[in-house]
Amino acid sequence: MQGAPPSVLHGEAGARTARRLLFHAHHQGFFSYALLGKDEWERVLLERGFVEEDVDLERGGVSETPHAFQAVRMRYGLDAAGAMLVVALRYAPDLAPEPAAARAARGLSPLPLPEAGKPVVTIGRFARGNWYREINARLAACAAAMSTEMATAGLPFFPPKRWQRFSNSRFPEKGLAVAAGLGSIGRNGLLIAEASRVTTTTTAKVPFPYASSAVLLGLMLLPFDIEEALMPRRRPPRTALSFCGNCRRCVEACPTGALHVAQQPVFERERCIQYYSSQLETLPAFIEASWQDQLYGCDLCLNACPYFRPDPEAYTDRGAIGGSLDAVSIARMSDDQLRALLKGSSLDQKWIAPGALRRNATLALRKRGASREAQ
Ligand code: SF4
Ligand code: SF4
Repeated sequence: MQGAPPSVLHGEAGARTARRLLFHAHHQGFFSYALLGKDEWERVLLERGFVEEDVDLERGGVSETPHAFQAVRMRYGLDAAGAMLVVALRYAPDLAPEPAAARAARGLSPLPLPEAGKPVVTIGRFARGNWYREINARLAACAAAMSTEMATAGLPFFPPKRWQRFSNSRFPEKGLAVAAGLGSIGRNGLLIAEASRVTTTTTAKVPFPYASSAVLLGLMLLPFDIEEALMPRRRPPRTALSFCGNCRRCVEACPTGALHVAQQPVFERERCIQYYSSQLETLPAFIEASWQDQLYGCDLCLNACPYFRPDPEAYTDRGAIGGSLDAVSIARMSDDQLRALLKGSSLDQKWIAPGALRRNATLALRKRGASREAQ
């Protein structure tokens, strides 16, 4: 899909549209949000490229070749896209699994929930609900509200489906978030976001009390651009490690040496448990040795981070599978059974091999057996 360059909103129409977009982003509960003009996000794309296909964005990805870069641009119709809304949503510290009755009503089998004393496998906090779908739904609500408002104000009408939305996508989401002034990359390679608007005050004597690394990112490409001078002021991009200082807790918490203390964040994907948790390849011995009970994701470096501040009030009813499942049941499931069980959850991604999940559960069981024997 290719098209003519987007129209540009000038004057009061542009300024008001930009302000209203940010108002709706705030109203939808996003923690951080900002607008980038087309020139700005194009610059980031040129610098960073797109993320490799079929990998977990949180813990993977490299730039594409020039040919693949063009192909992805065409697929998303980027020539015709205008400004970009960049958002961060703070996720919950935990999430209860969807009840069996509600799952049954949607044609899904019950989750194999853990029983007392039985071995479990755990799911990273960011994946306990489908926060990616939640982000997209909230962005869709912003698009619906704005398209109606614009038409009412006599501006061109752009139907909501033309406001393309992305989360956990092939865009360099972290680079775009930094460019939009949403935060800084920490030593663990993840974004530490700053609240766009502070609605409560704290007396806690902690550095940057309104920052959180418990966020996931989303993007919305607008079907029009806005003159850069009319954009609401953004925070200037922060350099990496701006919030980290001398802290090295994540480096010390990582059992596989995937993180390092250096002038810039150094994350080695090939040493990361989270990366391997979705990949059906033979695990290196040092990864296997450090594996605990992870089914998908690994929270060890995030849990150690002083900025790991999930939102206790955050909620999504999309794909809630909770924090742990019965390890024996998962280890015995076929590929089809696992796919059916995890349908609609954040583990329902094409880069997550069911066989990898089965292997992870088997490994967790073996580890538990070994630790029992050692006692
Ligand atoms: S602590 Fe876990 S998620 Fe973090 S870098 Fe190490 S292996 Fe990866
Ligand atoms: S644990 Fe410390 S060094 Fe690591 S990302 Fe958080 S603040 Fe930065």
